[in-house]
Amino acid sequence: MFDGIIGQDLARRYLARAVAGGRLAHAYLFYGPAGVGKKTLARELARILICADSGERPCGICPPCRMFLAGTHPDLFVMDGAGKSIGIAQVRQLQQGLRFRPFGTLQLCLVQEAGNLTAEAANALLKTLEEPPGPALFVLTGVRPDRMPPTVVSRCLKIPFRLLTRDEIMLGLEKMGFKGDVLPVAAGLSRGSLGRAAELAAGRGDGDWREKAASLAGELLAGIGVAELFARARELGERAELLARTELLLLWYRDLLLWRETGAADYLVNADRLDEIRTQAGRATTPGLVRSINAIEDLRKKLSANANVRLAAEVLCLRLAGLVKEDGHDTASGWNTV
Ligand SMILES: [Zn+2]
Repeated sequence: MFDGIIGQDLARRYLARAVAGGRLAHAYLFYGPAGVGKKTLARELARILICADSGERPCGICPPCRMFLAGTHPDLFVMDGAGKSIGIAQVRQLQQGLRFRPFGTLQLCLVQEAGNLTAEAANALLKTLEEPPGPALFVLTGVRPDRMPPTVVSRCLKIPFRLLTRDEIMLGLEKMGFKGDVLPVAAGLSRGSLGRAAELAAGRGDGDWREKAASLAGELLAGIGVAELFARARELGERAELLARTELLLLWYRDLLLWRETGAADYLVNADRLDEIRTQAGRATTPGLVRSINAIEDLRKKLSANANVRLAAEVLCLRLAGLVKEDGHDTASGWNTV
């Protein structure tokens, strides 16, 4: 989906030089956070190696390029562990395929989410990594090498991917055809992931909740009755939604504090809603905003520790409304048990 979009410039440059100089390793591990371009770059590398053009590769029009784009190139093998494990059967299938001579110059094996290789599959793959039957290049991708089979990791040249900067994400979004106000907002909310930024920019993800977070903060700062407050707490949703939504809420309060303290609009994530930010920040106090931010962070920590979701959301709203002033760690003890 993100073909052609910057992944990690440095990794790309490094690999381009390795390709040009004929110095490619036979196995790579691209690791780092989700959505920063690891798979994109792995596929790009495969495309370049598969292209038969003598000029700038990939040309996109030679027969191998066309087969690659159609997903039918016989030298390309993909095992995808996204959301599922990669089992021994898939590795055996790969090994079968590798017995044939390559159609082009070498066979390319992409192992996505290599952390999801089963132990058995990893063992089998290890043998193939050590002694592939013919010319082959392996590119494994995954988030954390320490959660992958160490024997497999040790056979790979490791290339770390970092989170993308705000500028890199804005550039990536532009290349994907997004423009206007949505760029800084999506980039600000993206946590360094172009994939996430693109989802937000396309209005998927929780775009709608950005607006709700803003209006919730507005109501809480303006004063709200307890019945309404509990109703809002319910609207925050169940655990997964609550995590996503409180993140937007956190960014909103961060913006309020930032505006209050600096009056600089440049760094606001929600810079497109400056009027609201100005109004709400005017009603708030700095210590109040700091307490609110702490309250949201506390809730998010407690959610990962199996807190009672409804109660946690209610306590959060109470704290945001300033109705509970203390930090609530122990005074509300018991609320983090199910
Ligand atoms: Zn080509």
